[in-house]
Order: sequence, then structure tokens, then C-alpha cells
Amino acid sequence: MIYQHCSSHESFIRQDPISKEWVIYSISRKNRPHDQTVESSNKPLLSFDKDCPFCPGNENKLAIVNEEIKNPNGSGWLSRAIDNKFPALSQAAPTQRYKEGIYLCMGGYGRHEVIIENPHHSKDIPQYDVNEISSVIEIYHRRYLAMMSDDHIVMVTIFRNHGVNAGTSLAHPHSQIIGSPTVPRYIRIQEQISETYFDDHGVCIYCDLINSELKCGERIITRNSSFVSFVPYAAKVPYEIWILPCRHTAVFGDIKEYEKEDLALILKDILSRLSSLLEDPDYNYIIHTFTRYRTNEPHIHWFLQIVPRLLTPAGFELGSGFRINPSIPEVDARELKG
Ligand SMILES: [Zn+2]
Ligand SMILES: [Zn+2]
Repeated sequence: MIYQHCSSHESFIRQDPISKEWVIYSISRKNRPHDQTVESSNKPLLSFDKDCPFCPGNENKLAIVNEEIKNPNGSGWLSRAIDNKFPALSQAAPTQRYKEGIYLCMGGYGRHEVIIENPHHSKDIPQYDVNEISSVIEIYHRRYLAMMSDDHIVMVTIFRNHGVNAGTSLAHPHSQIIGSPTVPRYIRIQEQISETYFDDHGVCIYCDLINSELKCGERIITRNSSFVSFVPYAAKVPYEIWILPCRHTAVFGDIKEYEKEDLALILKDILSRLSSLLEDPDYNYIIHTFTRYRTNEPHIHWFLQIVPRLLTPAGFELGSGFRINPSIPEVDARELKG
């Protein structure tokens, strides 16, 4: 029996030997609850739902609270971080890699947390005030640092799924953070491309991208003193948006206090534009911050990517790796700019 090491755990990771892509297997994810109101097009505007595990007063339905940001006015909390009850990766799993015949697998070690963004059950980022969004960014930052203090975690991904087509299962506004024990191949490729660009030109490719987009101006949506937002030149989907810090910073963990408020301001602005232009579309946003070994490197630059989920990738896209985008980035940017 050679298939004995990884599969005996709740969570394990296997590598496809042809593509070198890692696949996470998590048995507990099958039991995730599904809130029917997520799918409703007429979502009720409720400040509280008695059945929601994330609403204040329902703490008995929650895992332990790992971090909490208090409301400065003294009335309860603003944001919370809790363990995901149905984690993709777990600290109970081993970290070792094993050969299983010709295959490679490893234990599903890692951390998976949920950020409850706000006590209000159905408010969303466009309706939050800037202090409320700053509180979400503050708790992202604290949990990023906490996860990166674990030597076995090499990469932290912060993301938000908005709407059923983006993969959300609970209506109460929340984000997630996953700390993983290995680095996916496509991240390694991006890191290598950035490294080669730096070797050839002596400058960070993302800093060059910001300067080039500002000079051209056609795809810029908005900017403030710390961040710039634009539709990327080769946007993969309609209305894809990137928000980059103007200051060269390799990892999200190095964000400064003043940048947290500027990020809150631009995020509220951009998501409000997207919501009013496309009538509250489903989307994912992801904070791309680079891996443990790349911290402070001159060619890496963190950024936030917003991916509206207006289309489903079809057979050609899955089979070829090409993307077909029916929307032109410069036109999308013009519409978002308004
Ligand atoms: Zn709720
Ligand atoms: Zn840079």
C-alpha cells in the first residue's frame, strides 16, 4: 500500500506530475453551510439575522475569536477574525512531503480564517464608512503578520468572495485569509518574470507599470496619494481592476498606517463605481502579496486585484489557457471613470 501518508488526514495536498500544480484536498469543506439568501436577487436589508453565525449575539455558533477590533465609540466590535469552521488547510495536519510511488504529496498544513468585516448583517463595502473599511484592512494586516510568524507558512492570500457566482456561501459580509505551506507554480513564474525584468532594466516591473499607465492615462480609473487604480492592459475579464500602492512595497505586511486609510478610500470608491455601473455584480478581490522568501526584494510589488464574475470560463478557455474577453479594457476604464 503506497497511498497511505497524506490521505489519512482531513487535509492534504497532491502535485500534478505533468503541470506541477498543487491541488488541496479538504474533506471538511463538503459540510459547509449554505445560506439560501445569498442566491436571492432581492436580498433583504437586515442589520441582524438570528440564524447568522457572524451576527453579534450568536457567538455560541462561532469558532474562537482570534482577533477583534473594538469600535472606538465603545459600542462592541468593528471587525473580527475567527478560524474557518471548514478549513481548506489546518494546523493539525503535518508539513512533510512524501513520495507516493511516482507522485508527490504533502500534509495540508496551514491556516484558514474568516474575517467578519462588520457587525451589520447586510451592509457592504460601498455602504461602509471609511473607518469601517480601515478596520477591515487593519485586521487583514494583523492576521497577515500573525500567519507569517508561523515558519511553516510561506504564502498568505487575502481574498473576498462577493455573491454566489464568486463562491460565497454566507450572506454576512466577510473575507478570508489562507496561509499555505507551499507556493503555486504560477506565482513562482510571476516571481521569476519580475526578477528577470529587474535584472534587465534595474527597476521593478510593477513600478514601471504604474508609471506607464499614469503617462498613458487611458486605463486609469482613479488615484490618491498612496494608490492608483486601473484596468490592466491585458485584462482577463470584463472590468478587471488592479489597485497598486504607488510606494514600492514587496509585501502587504509592510503597509504603513497612512496607507491603510488611503486603501480604504480607494477601495470604497472603486467598489461603489463597480456596483453602480454593473448593478452590484458578483466579484472576487484578492490581495496578491509575495512569498516569505521574497520579502523586501526590489522587483516584487503587492497589489489588489478585483475580478468581476460576469462570465463563466468555457471549454476553449479551460482547454487552451487563452482567455476571451468581449470587453475592451480602455472602454471599461472610461465607463468606470464616469
Ligand atoms: Zn449576520
Ligand atoms: Zn515596485
